[in-house]
Amino acid sequence: MLGLRFLYAAIASYWIVLVTTAAAGNSNHPPGPHTPDIKAELGPLLSRNAQIITPSSPHFGEFTERYLLSNSPEYSVVVVVDTEDDVSKAVKYANAHKIPFAAKNTGHGSWGSLATMKGGMNIWMRNLSKIELSLDGQYATVGGGVRIADLVQTLWSARKQTATGLCQCIGVTGSSLGGGVGPIQGEYGLGLDQIVSARVVLADGTAVTASEQSHPELFWGLKGAGHNFGIVTEMKMRVHSNQGKEKWTFTTLIYTQDKLEAVFEQLNVKLATQPAHLSWETIITRDPTTDPDNAILILWVFSNGLNLNAMDKYTKPLRDIGPVAVNTIITDYPGLIEALGYGLTSESCKPNHYGGVFGIGVTRYIPSDLRSMYNLFNQITSEVPEFASSYAFVENYAPQAMQAVPARSTAYAHRHFRALPTIVLLYDAPAAVPALDAKVTLWGEKMRTALMKHQQREESYVNYAVGEQESLEALYGYDGERQQKLRRLKKQYDPYNRFWTYGTIE
Ligand SMILES: Cc1cc2nc3c(=O)[nH]c(=O)nc-3n(C[C@H](O)[C@H](O)[C@H](O)COP(=O)(O)OP(=O)(O)OC[C@H]3O[C@@H](n4cnc5c(N)ncnc54)[C@H](O)[C@@H]3O)c2cc1C
Repeated sequence: MLGLRFLYAAIASYWIVLVTTAAAGNSNHPPGPHTPDIKAELGPLLSRNAQIITPSSPHFGEFTERYLLSNSPEYSVVVVVDTEDDVSKAVKYANAHKIPFAAKNTGHGSWGSLATMKGGMNIWMRNLSKIELSLDGQYATVGGGVRIADLVQTLWSARKQTATGLCQCIGVTGSSLGGGVGPIQGEYGLGLDQIVSARVVLADGTAVTASEQSHPELFWGLKGAGHNFGIVTEMKMRVHSNQGKEKWTFTTLIYTQDKLEAVFEQLNVKLATQPAHLSWETIITRDPTTDPDNAILILWVFSNGLNLNAMDKYTKPLRDIGPVAVNTIITDYPGLIEALGYGLTSESCKPNHYGGVFGIGVTRYIPSDLRSMYNLFNQITSEVPEFASSYAFVENYAPQAMQAVPARSTAYAHRHFRALPTIVLLYDAPAAVPALDAKVTLWGEKMRTALMKHQQREESYVNYAVGEQESLEALYGYDGERQQKLRRLKKQYDPYNRFWTYGTIE
């Protein structure tokens, strides 16, 4: 049990992200001029609760911290917005003074291009925190600065839920604009499939409603390539009753590395009949109490439908492989989140690490490629002790409701994905260490290449992508019509590419 506790802590240090080369700068996007008068000029135009915070403020750092310091933009000012009109005014001011700008919510975004912003305006979204249930209980209006934890807790206490990402400290909007993958997508679809309409401040500062009826093509683009088109100040999302769905059964299986092929072969068998209420995730990490020499495998299987006995039956082939430990609990959805190590107080939610994320999407497991990736991971985490808390994960959320949505109906191009293998190399230090950053880039790419060896082509979920490595096709689909439509929309809604720091269509 002690071993398990250590393990949960290690795994909870989950996500951490990259980027080393991006900091070199992007000549297409020069730094904006410093505007010492911004408080005097923009301040009076903003609402009463808005704030303008400059680097001389002792609180500046509270607004600029991120999950991954490796990809921090360099800001000259923070505008703490309190209304949609504040966002419009900030964008118009930034444009007039040639200041690059981007929305910042939780700072979990891992794209390398974020670090190419110099002298930028941080449009700080967290105060756009409205969560309002409609009278009929079918929708929620969700502010552009809401975190997943806020939404999950509010809905759960109203006996509701909606599909979002799993990690509690990421933004509902930032994750949903690229997809929003999580444990109830088998029942309800992706986070972006819940969006019924969105208020969007466009690149020129005007605000519009995007929905099936209003700016329908923009609405299409927002759902999958959304970071390209505007700042979402609020969204209307579908919500669902959680009645009869309160309980989750959650099994942890821990394996030594020699079982890797057997585990993924068995998971390939299970892919064919994965029920909508059941998901699993595999983690590769180091836990010296379980194996002092080699990284181990942890497999989490979680179901919103199976009781203890049924779960036991379901996991029997996985238990027959010979895990070193097995543990099953019954909990509710908030409890599941905690058990998986994605709660607000978990390591996943602590900011200011260094490292990189290297993710791809696949339709089935290729055990030999996973073995190659494992061997590289095992080698580098043994050779470089600073990388000891790194991990690789393979998320496998159920596909049914996600795949029931027609593939062409949104800009999200990856409804065929069945698993998301992702490497997270990370280290903690008072400041970036160039030699470690170089190793992150080199070994992260080696591992990603190993994972792709037998894939037909490179494909990545934009929110887990390296950023700046992947082609537009890899991120947004190889279908030519889809690419043309995205480029046309970019030209129409952001002709000067002002939203260029994340998943940019250029
Ligand atoms: C620890 C961790 C766990 C994660 N877990 C999941 C998960 O379970 N499921 C999943 O799908 N993804 C997950 N992700 C990936 C996550 O979806 C992306 O990192 C996402 O970009 C986070 O958005 P954010 O707003 O929290 O971060 P930020 O860094 O604040 O924003 C990321 C990008 O979104 C833009 N943005 C933010 N808010 C808005 C807005 N209101 N309007 C327009 N643009 C906006 C920003 O300008 C930036 O370009 C995880 C990432 C980490 C680091």
